[in-house]
Amino acid sequence: MQNLNAIPDLVLVNGTVLTVDGSNSVAEAVGVTAGLITAIGSTNDVLSLRGPKTKVIDLEGRTLIPGLIDPHVHLADHGTSMVMAVDVRDLYRDITSVTHMVDRVRDRVKTTAEGTWLYGFGSPLADRRMAEKRLPTRSELDAVAPKHPVVLTFGAHVFIANSVALNLAKITKDTPDPEGGEIQRDPETGELTGKLLERAQLLVRAAIGPEIPVAYSVKTDYHHLKAGITFASQSALSRGVTSVHDMVMTNVAIRAYQELAEEDALPLRTSLLIRIIESPIKPESLLNLGFYSGFGNSMLRLGGVKMSIDGGITGKAAAFYDPYLPDEHDPAHEHECYCGIIRIPTEELESTVDAYHRAGHRVCVHAIGDRAADMALAAFDAAITAHPRDDHRHRIEHFGNWALTPERIEKARRLGIVPVPNLSFMHSIMPPVRSFIGTDRLKGAFGLKTMLDAGLRVITGSDGPGFFPTDPLRDIGIATSRRTLEGDAVEPQEAISAVQALRMMTIDAAWSGFEEDEKGSIELGKLADFAILERNPLETAFEDIGSIEVDATLINGKFVFQRAGAEMAARA
Ligand SMILES: [Zn+2]
Repeated sequence: MQNLNAIPDLVLVNGTVLTVDGSNSVAEAVGVTAGLITAIGSTNDVLSLRGPKTKVIDLEGRTLIPGLIDPHVHLADHGTSMVMAVDVRDLYRDITSVTHMVDRVRDRVKTTAEGTWLYGFGSPLADRRMAEKRLPTRSELDAVAPKHPVVLTFGAHVFIANSVALNLAKITKDTPDPEGGEIQRDPETGELTGKLLERAQLLVRAAIGPEIPVAYSVKTDYHHLKAGITFASQSALSRGVTSVHDMVMTNVAIRAYQELAEEDALPLRTSLLIRIIESPIKPESLLNLGFYSGFGNSMLRLGGVKMSIDGGITGKAAAFYDPYLPDEHDPAHEHECYCGIIRIPTEELESTVDAYHRAGHRVCVHAIGDRAADMALAAFDAAITAHPRDDHRHRIEHFGNWALTPERIEKARRLGIVPVPNLSFMHSIMPPVRSFIGTDRLKGAFGLKTMLDAGLRVITGSDGPGFFPTDPLRDIGIATSRRTLEGDAVEPQEAISAVQALRMMTIDAAWSGFEEDEKGSIELGKLADFAILERNPLETAFEDIGSIEVDATLINGKFVFQRAGAEMAARA
């Protein structure tokens, strides 16, 4: 037994404890004192440390693992949208047609005062799955909402606005496309379709009110954000998640987090990655404040800054060198050489990365297409070469989803860049992505094994919880089985072992937040954050790991989730 000579206030015994320590050792029991792990060993040894007030939980053979960590979520934004917006999501849900979506908007119109903004929250690439094989149009929304401004989002990169919303945003068919965005028009008539991509969305956001903070499109205040964070956290907790890195883009979200933390009501440990371009938070504001990454405490801290070079794959706006394939579902881009959208010009990117790198921040850059990945690597190369800094742990969000070449992998390794691919994408949206970027660009996609073998420390984030649920167990299942929702295996040679995948979602994710000394494994002195699973993921068929039930989740040694029907009795 290892122990810190403390009398535990809680012991969890008779389990399989996957410690995820340096040698992946397995124990039977743990002891917790004042929220920290103070004993690890056999059931008998840990029980022998008991004092008169020690609570004993019998795991009855369950598996106890470190609390899971999702290092790329949009929890505040999506949670608030899930609570407040008209839900027109189809992935993992029941919507199957545009008609169905429009009906939901019509229902909300009936109960909403004229002139009030209405928001709909849909799933990325819904057009490929709906019966009509398209998204709703401006005119369909006009028909059910002639007097309400309506904007529907389908992933972070696409808005569909009705005429009232376009009028308020002063967008006409003659409005030029903003730099880094697109106002889509019907290729035949030149009329607005209502679809707005990337920076064109900012015109609508500005119409909602420049002074009004927004989560995606939803008009929000502190109370909404707090409710959204709390709501979205509950489903994460039910999947064993105890920590997230949340991409936030408003002062309101940051304030909401701080209020929750102060009230002792923050459900998950949260590291904030603050968006500083295309955000109400100005690029210079964090630099002016002087805080650098790591500021805060184990519940809430500043994890770094975030910016997005190109558009999203789900908006078909990721920036590639080669054009997207001809696409019958996208007539507006059918007849041109369309390669996606660059949202941050090279100069702005390089100066921002450099300034934050020098100021001691960790910089997370979203780059999806190959062209954007090269821009990100070049910007990091320039900053790191000019101002070498050890252990910066800069990240490229979505690196490794595709467009992996030996040159890019070697450059990332040399620069010490952390790739953050998204197994949720591989699982959920491969058929449409394959149809518009083609199979060549998908060779070696989500190349976990290749990146690990090359010496990169890889982590993976869900980009949820709104579009893809925040569910690291599902992602461990995908990393090992390589299965999509449709049941196909994607680049099966890139499968990694279950223990590698478990490390990715625990200790490696903790490391990516500079928090590996305080969490991510079950070792003495670390935070007592655990997920208790009904069975052992290392002894489960890969395809079934995602459906393992989480029976309980603990943060600071306290039960914060218990599955109904699977409660574990405590005895003194
Ligand atoms: Zn994201």
